[in-house]
Amino acid sequence: MALIVKKFGGSSVATPEKIMAVAKRVLQEKNPDDKIVVVVSAMGDTTDELVGLAAAITDKTSGREMDMLLATGEQVSIALLAMAFAELGQPAVSMTGFQAGIATNETFNKAKITGITPDKVWQELNAGKIVVIAGFQGLTETGEITTLGRGGSDTTAVAIAAGLKADHCEIYTDVDGIYSSDPRVVATARRMKEITYNEMLEMARLGAGVMHPRSVELGKHYDMPIHVRSTFTCDSGTFIREEYTMEEKEFVIRGVTHDANVAKIAVLGVPDRPGMAYKIFSALAEANIDVDMIVQSVRALDKHIIDVVFTISQGDVPQAGSILEKLNAEMNFSGLTIEEQVAKVSVIGAGMLGNPGIAAATFGALADAGINIEVISTSEISISCLVAADKAKEAVNAIHNRFFPV
Ligand code: ASP
Ligand code: MG
Repeated sequence: MALIVKKFGGSSVATPEKIMAVAKRVLQEKNPDDKIVVVVSAMGDTTDELVGLAAAITDKTSGREMDMLLATGEQVSIALLAMAFAELGQPAVSMTGFQAGIATNETFNKAKITGITPDKVWQELNAGKIVVIAGFQGLTETGEITTLGRGGSDTTAVAIAAGLKADHCEIYTDVDGIYSSDPRVVATARRMKEITYNEMLEMARLGAGVMHPRSVELGKHYDMPIHVRSTFTCDSGTFIREEYTMEEKEFVIRGVTHDANVAKIAVLGVPDRPGMAYKIFSALAEANIDVDMIVQSVRALDKHIIDVVFTISQGDVPQAGSILEKLNAEMNFSGLTIEEQVAKVSVIGAGMLGNPGIAAATFGALADAGINIEVISTSEISISCLVAADKAKEAVNAIHNRFFPV
């Protein structure tokens, strides 16, 4: 007997026909004594449409009413999927997030799961039913409906899997696994059979879009293996887990990503004395602006000034700009530039720990392609290079070819 949680996203349940296909697909793979929980998102673009309805009424929506509205999307798809199972002769029951015992904090629109009490789920599983649970939603201690942030159904699935101590959690999507690079950018990108939680989190942080990072964090926390696979084929996809279990250990690098949503800020001629970096970055932190790739360099030793360069998300540019202008009025920098025509290209792999050739190989690939590196930053398991935005795709391909030769 296996206990498996399967999650299907909005595009997999976009129409009644697709919902029937999901039900058939689940039954096809189910062994007679398997216990199955299915988590679903809202049908197709339902959540976007609900957001649009609210926007047509007001631009000052309350978080509570927004969640009341958004949570309805998933309630439609769970009921229809339970009906589809019944139509195929399989006993099934649908449950909202709160019926399934998903408790969250009070942060409307991006609530965090605080606990799972899946008693009702167990009852129905033990009665031989497939349990269909609404993704993306939960209930606060005071009985308010919450949602978990866009794309949050992945998080529901992994949390339920952890709460039930399932054998693993399967995430069905329209891609058939995690690739070494975005296949739309790198034609020779390869599907990885396995990747570790840490590598997946680092890839998500550095621009890969497949999995919702919070769901991977949960998987890591509870050591719940996540199998990312295709809705349309029965092939095995990619397992995200703590350690590699099989082949492919020879790949030092697991992925090459790029992120075009970055802006480079240079603050030039900052006085070289204690507290200056603190002043700049605490002002940005107060405004909740995430800063990355920080470089401080010494200039004109005799004049006692330094330059600070860092990157932020493009969405934060207007706010960061006005904060820095204010500081400039006070600190009198010799220059302040904000450049958006840049992209961050990164290589990720736990194998680079204690493997000194990786940085050199990465820079070598870019050098051979004639691509200039503007800023470099590293973590234990990644190296990122800032390059001109119009060179990003070429850079990704050059680095990928170096580590995954064809
Ligand atoms: N329906 C929600 C959304 O579109 C949750 C999800 O799809 O995971 O964001
Ligand atoms: Mg969706």
